[in-house]
Amino acid sequence: MSASSGNSSPVAIVTGASRGIGIEVAAELARRGYRLGLLARNQKLLQEAARKLEGAAPAVRALACDVQEARQVETAFQELLDWGGRVDVLVNNAGVGVYAPVHRLSEADWDRQLNTNLRGVFYCSKAVIPQMIQQQSGHIVNISSLAGKNAFAGGSAYCASKWGLQGLTYCMAEDLRRYHIRVSVICPGSVHTEFTPHAGKDPKKMLQAGDVARVVGWLLEQEPQSFVSEVLLRPTQKP
Ligand code: NAP
Repeated sequence: MSASSGNSSPVAIVTGASRGIGIEVAAELARRGYRLGLLARNQKLLQEAARKLEGAAPAVRALACDVQEARQVETAFQELLDWGGRVDVLVNNAGVGVYAPVHRLSEADWDRQLNTNLRGVFYCSKAVIPQMIQQQSGHIVNISSLAGKNAFAGGSAYCASKWGLQGLTYCMAEDLRRYHIRVSVICPGSVHTEFTPHAGKDPKKMLQAGDVARVVGWLLEQEPQSFVSEVLLRPTQKP
């Protein structure tokens, strides 16, 4: 949807919007004229992010929410829907990674990754889909990873969550295409954020958060009949 001003502007909700890829995605959407609904757990960091974005977007609403918790997601999304009156874009970006050999991975770390990276996407998507169906339009963009395509030692739970996210994305896309709703997935390689130490990698050669944000923007530029379902985003040089 093209952007206009004030309360008629389209609305985008970004999870994990307090730093890293999420805040850059929010900034990209602000430049494109979206009103922003921002979610993350740490209220202080989220409010700081919201303040940075306030001048750029027609309106910003930031709410603390743990995407692992169904009730918190329901409450936060209801508040954002009441505020925005519509929802045009959901970027499921919140994610965590804990790397350890599978035999040393704790149940808690397994649960945290699966519940954030996969279950959280299910909860947040369910919270916007009825409104998107009513509008007969919308775009859900899931931030997966090349770890959703490739195995690496220590990545069992993270890869399982992102592999699962690939499946969830493609099935949601099939469920929703009849309502003119697109569900896409972006799979970046290593991105220079606070996400996890990338030991031995050259940050200058790594992807930057803005690179992922630009891809989100491009996905939203498509003509109504066109649907890019997946983007693999690699650094040009091996970091
Ligand atoms: P980041 O800098 O660590 O930021 C993660 C964001 O997610 C923060 O805003 C964090 O805020 C939020 N978050 C984490 N758990 C949450 C929860 N349970 N509920 C709500 N918000 C939560 O990470 P990033 O690098 O920007 O990563 C963003 C996404 O990109 C993730 O899905 C990640 O898997 C994916 N990705 C990252 C890379 C990479 O190399 N960095 C590569 C490929 C894909 P709070 O902690 O305050 O909640």
